[in-house]
Amino acid sequence: MRLASFTEGGRRRIGAVEGGEVLDLTAACPDLPREMRAFLEAGPRAMQRAQEAAPDSPRLALDAVRLEAPIARPPKFLAVGLNYADHVAESGMQPPPHPTIFNKQSTCVVGPFDSVHVPRASHVLDYEGELGFVIGTRCRHVSRADAEKVIAGYLVVDDVTVRDWQLRTPTMTMGKSFDTHGPIGPWIVTPDELGDPHGLALRTWVNGELRQESNTKELIFDCFALVEHLSTAFTLEPGDIVATGTPAGVGIVRKPPLLLVAGDVVRVEIEGIGAIENAVIDEPEEPWIVPAEGDR
Ligand code: MG
Repeated sequence: MRLASFTEGGRRRIGAVEGGEVLDLTAACPDLPREMRAFLEAGPRAMQRAQEAAPDSPRLALDAVRLEAPIARPPKFLAVGLNYADHVAESGMQPPPHPTIFNKQSTCVVGPFDSVHVPRASHVLDYEGELGFVIGTRCRHVSRADAEKVIAGYLVVDDVTVRDWQLRTPTMTMGKSFDTHGPIGPWIVTPDELGDPHGLALRTWVNGELRQESNTKELIFDCFALVEHLSTAFTLEPGDIVATGTPAGVGIVRKPPLLLVAGDVVRVEIEGIGAIENAVIDEPEEPWIVPAEGDR
């Protein structure tokens, strides 16, 4: 399934995307959680019920609904630095012996077609197209061999980065976590639908110009190795998102640097999943207030 969070008629709910339509799972099964994180927490039985209900669910045209971030507020939003050899090289670094894990604050999440802000604090804004995976099962000490069982699905992430804030301190948290700098989506593709996540073409365009072109087979630490590594230290929970790292072609390393400016449009596409596309705008003068989850 392609599991989407969407709003239509002022109500947010979950659905399954098929072709140009979204199957309204909430309408078909009103007792299913209408919020994706709660749906994933409900476990395999909820997933099975959704699969069974999908064929008879009311169908809405995809372009008549608003696709939201599949998970509005992930419990954890983890990311991996330096996980493609060509990006390690362009960054002037050595391949790391261990995965370079950092956090994006979960408040940076926005939807697959929402705007991304050039912050007031810095104009050194860059894109990073990445494969992300979503945890479906509360777990700890998961072996690489068992890792696929705890992954609910895969999505596209733009790990939007404020480069000067990223690099001016030993930890990257601030530069990776500005509001709106975590577009995800356009939906979660379940493992049975996607197949092997480690052979997918990944491309990033800015204003239609191809900037990144790679394949997830080039990941140094693949999704399953990352599950094993992360769960060695801490519990992974349903709805946690892991962005697996970006390949070569980011803007900052170009000569001269090709940074994002207001008016740009960034598109990240991954084979078998889909694409997210985000317009870059200046951070609004008005305080940007995130609606509480229950109000959306
Ligand atoms: Mg990244």
